[in-house]
Amino acid sequence: MPSSLKLLSVELCTLTRHELLALLCRRIEKRAQTSVFTPNTQMLLSAHESEDIRCLLAASTLNIPDGVGVRLAARLHGRALESMSGIDLGEALLSVAAREGYRVFFLGAERGIAKQAAENMRARHPTLHICGTHHGYFDKRGKENAAVLRKIRAAKPDILFVCLGFPAQERWIAENLSFLPSVKLAIGLGGSFDVWSGKICRAPRVFQKIGLEWLWRTVLEPKRARIFVDIPRFLFLNIKKS
Ligand code: UDP
Repeated sequence: MPSSLKLLSVELCTLTRHELLALLCRRIEKRAQTSVFTPNTQMLLSAHESEDIRCLLAASTLNIPDGVGVRLAARLHGRALESMSGIDLGEALLSVAAREGYRVFFLGAERGIAKQAAENMRARHPTLHICGTHHGYFDKRGKENAAVLRKIRAAKPDILFVCLGFPAQERWIAENLSFLPSVKLAIGLGGSFDVWSGKICRAPRVFQKIGLEWLWRTVLEPKRARIFVDIPRFLFLNIKKS
C-alpha cells in the first residue's frame, strides 16, 4: 500500500485527501477495479475480535480511516492523519465524477432514500450522471441479489456507492464486485444516503471540524452510545500494541 499505518492488524491508507483522489482517478482511468472501505473505531474493534471481519477488511484495495478514534490512535503511533470522514470522501468523489463524467450508481438505504439522495446530489452538481439507484433491503444472496446485479450491470456505472451498513456493505462488495465489470470503484459509505436525502441531519460544520460529529450522531441516535466505551477501549488496545 502506498502510504499506510497498521492499527489492530488492519492496514490503513494514510494518503492525504488530494493524493487519495488522484490515486483513485488514476485507477479508474486504468480500469483497475478498486474496493474502498472506510473503517472507524467500531469496525477496527470488530476486526480485532473476529478473524472473519479481519479477513473482510484485508480483502479491500484500500481502507481509508474514518473518525476521531482512529485519528487519536494514529497520534499514539506518532502519525497525524488528515480529518476526512467516509461521507466527506463520498462527496469529494461525487465532485470528481461530475467533473470527469464518471457514471455513478447508488445502492442502499430504505426505499426511496437513494433516489432522493441522487436527486439532491444532481441538484448540487448539474453535470453529475447518476445512472441508477436501488434500495438496500433485499436478500443479499439468491434471486433478489441477482436482480440487483442485473440492474447495476445494465446501468454501467464507473463508481458504485454501497450504503448497507457495516459489515453488510463490505461483505456485499467483496462478494459481488467481480460480477460488475463496468465498476472501477466500489465504496462502502454507511449512512451517507440518509444524510444526502435529508432524512438525517449532519452535524454543524463546527462539530465536523473539531472531530465531534460522532457526538452529534450519538445524541440523535442513542443506540450509538457504545462509542463512549469503544473509543477508550480502542485507544487502550493501541497503547498496549505500540
Ligand atoms: N441498510 C440497508 N440495508 C440493510 C440494512 C441497512 O440499506 O439491510 C442501510 C440503512 O437504511 C442505512 C445504512 O444502511 O441507510 C446504515 O447506516 P449506518 O449509519 O447505521 O451505517 P453503519 O454505522 O452501520 O456503517
